[in-house]
Amino acid sequence: MQSEVFSSSHPTLAAYRHELEVQAETGRLRRCRLVSPAPGASSSMQVQVDGRAVVNFSSNDYLGLAHDARLQAASVEALGQYGTGSAGSRLITGTGPLVQVLESTLAGFKQAEAALVFNSGYQANVAILQALLTPEDRVFCDKLNHASLMDGCLWSGARWSRYRHLDLAQLEARLQKAPVAARKWIVTDSVFSMDGDYPDLRALADLAESYQALLLVDEAHATGLYGDTRSSGLCEQYGVSGRVALQMGTFSKALGGFGAYVAGPRTLIDTLVNRSRGFIYSTALPPGVWAAALEAVRLVQADCTMKSRLWSNVRRLETLLRAAGLSAFVPSGAFRSAIVPFVVGDNVNTLALSDALLEAGYFVQGIRPPTVPPGTARLRIALSAAHTETDLQGLVTALRQGVDALSVEPSPA
Ligand SMILES: *Cc1c(COP(=O)(O)O)cnc(C)c1O
Repeated sequence: MQSEVFSSSHPTLAAYRHELEVQAETGRLRRCRLVSPAPGASSSMQVQVDGRAVVNFSSNDYLGLAHDARLQAASVEALGQYGTGSAGSRLITGTGPLVQVLESTLAGFKQAEAALVFNSGYQANVAILQALLTPEDRVFCDKLNHASLMDGCLWSGARWSRYRHLDLAQLEARLQKAPVAARKWIVTDSVFSMDGDYPDLRALADLAESYQALLLVDEAHATGLYGDTRSSGLCEQYGVSGRVALQMGTFSKALGGFGAYVAGPRTLIDTLVNRSRGFIYSTALPPGVWAAALEAVRLVQADCTMKSRLWSNVRRLETLLRAAGLSAFVPSGAFRSAIVPFVVGDNVNTLALSDALLEAGYFVQGIRPPTVPPGTARLRIALSAAHTETDLQGLVTALRQGVDALSVEPSPA
């Protein structure tokens, strides 16, 4: 008699189960939580986590665009006109008109010759690096770069070197040692996803030029948030858009949608079309997703109200944390992005504090190794234009109470 489901008594499964148990013992087990909109919510940050109504401080929807009526309308219209699927990869099935407009708009947005859309940020980074790097090449990475950049470098087979976080002196020493003739890429997040800090992109561009290296900058947490003219990201803010070979970014965070792009010289974009397996061998995004992205790119350039609201929330949280005597938990140099790390250090305490906040009505995700270095487990407070003054005050009150109840000390990290 065949059973309906695969038997969980298989010895290989027992081994996996044991590994999960070991992970759980050290506070490293992860699970997906059910998060849904709170009934009668007046903002997109009011959600239900495991059935409890809370304010969401774990969302990368920094501008509140994921629930914007203008994006929804654009997406619904494209859905009606073009259907739910793209039905194939772009080289086989063809490129739709919407993605063509999106790519030319992105090129202007990022002040580049051309742009190419990818299906997600993760896929883009892996696909770009695998396409551009060979085992003869050298690639230099900040140690805290996003996992997708690490995976792309690793899987490309290139000789790679990881320099200390933001340590451009160490990067320069590494560049000096590399053969002059070798092809060199420097790869960095602009805003770092778990720390919210960023490198001096002008100094990085100087360094790249001195050693004839090319720069790839990942603007996932910066697109839509920085730059006075177009809000295109940190490259614009530093005035280096024309000195960075490839500016990569996503639609999945501040732009409130899904998917990713890379902008740069036509030669590199053509190379990617011809070589990146993630582009060649994957079905294009659905047209409704392109339409939302296009609307978001137009909106962030035309309407600064959401961006101003976000930055005033960032400043307000800084003030409130200082007034509550909690500044020591936040590394110096924070409050320059929408991501505020509240560093606890210990994995178990981090989870306990996150649970206490949830009890109090605030969803702030605890981030543990290997996502962050050992001993630097933290709450990652993600701010949004959609948060209210009441949300911020309530969060800080709950943090103070949680820290006191658990006797958590600021971690020297
Ligand atoms: C989120 C993120 C990505 C991945 O983007 P997705 O669209 O979520 O796949 C890549 N790089 C960085 C720095 C990110 O934070």
